[in-house]
Amino acid sequence: MTLLSVERLEKSFGGVHAARGVTFDVERGRLVALIGPNGAGKSTTFNMIGGQLAPDTGRVLLDGTDIAGLAPRKIWRLGVGRTFQVAQTFLSMTVVENVQMALISLAGRTRGFWTDAASIDRDEAVALLARVGMAADADRPCRELAYGDVKRVELAIALAGSPKLLLMDEPTAGMAPKERGELMQLTADIARASGIGVLFTEHDMDAVFGHADHILVLVRGEIIARGTADEVRSNARVREVYLGGTADLTAHGTARAAGARP
Ligand code: ADP
Ligand code: MG
Repeated sequence: MTLLSVERLEKSFGGVHAARGVTFDVERGRLVALIGPNGAGKSTTFNMIGGQLAPDTGRVLLDGTDIAGLAPRKIWRLGVGRTFQVAQTFLSMTVVENVQMALISLAGRTRGFWTDAASIDRDEAVALLARVGMAADADRPCRELAYGDVKRVELAIALAGSPKLLLMDEPTAGMAPKERGELMQLTADIARASGIGVLFTEHDMDAVFGHADHILVLVRGEIIARGTADEVRSNARVREVYLGGTADLTAHGTARAAGARP
C-alpha cells in the first residue's frame, strides 16, 4: 500500500486559494521534493499533512487511513515525523542529552515521569546518533558543534519517533554547499535503508535535483509539473517559473524562483 496519498487538497485563506486540488503520493524509502516560488502553498500543504492546518476538502491517507484534520500530536503518533530546529536553550546540553529529551517526551505516553530516563534512554539515544554518524560526539555540548552537525542531531531527534514519513521544511537552509550534499545523502541513505518516506521543501536546487526521487512543482496552489529530475528540468512551464525560462537547472545553480504572483 502507498505510504502517503494526498488527494485533491483544497485550502483557502479568505480570498487566497493556497491549495488547489493538490494530489500526490509518497512511497516508502523515497524522497519527494516539493518546490515552488514563495507563496506557492508549500507550507500550507505541509501543514495539512502534519495536522497544523485542516484542509477545506480532500484526503490525506497514511497507510490507507485518512489523517486529514486530526491533531498534530495524533498524526505524529501515527508515524508522521518532522524535523525541528534544536532550540537555543538546548545548545547548553550535550548531544546525547538532546536526543534523550526527545525519547523522554515520547516515553511520556507509557512511562511515569519519574523514571530514571538518563540511564534508560542513553543507549537508545546513542544508537540513534550512530545512525547519523554522531555517536562519537555524544558527550559534547551542542553549542560546540558545526552547523552541519547540529542538523544531523536534529535528524536523529526526528528519527526518535520511528516515523514512517518524515516532513522536512528546508532541511539544508543556512548550510554550506558541501554540508548540504552530505545531509541530503545521509537522509536518502537512512530513508532507503529504513523504508521511511521523506517529503521535503528546499530552495537549493542541487539538493533537489541531486537527491529527490520525485519532484513536485507547486505554483499558486497548483502542482504544474511532476516527475524525475530530468523530466522536471526539461519542463517548459517549470523553466518559465524559475527565472523566466533562463534558469540554469542543470548543475550547481541555486535557481531562485521568480515572483510568485503577478
Ligand atoms: P510557501 O510555503 O510556498 O511560501 P504558503 O503555503 O506559506 O507558501 O502560502 C501560500 C499562500 O497562502 C500565500 O499567498 C500566503 O500568503 C497564504 N497564507 C498562508 N498561510 C496563511 C494564513 N494563515 N492566513 C492567510 N493567508 C495565508
Ligand atoms: Mg513556506
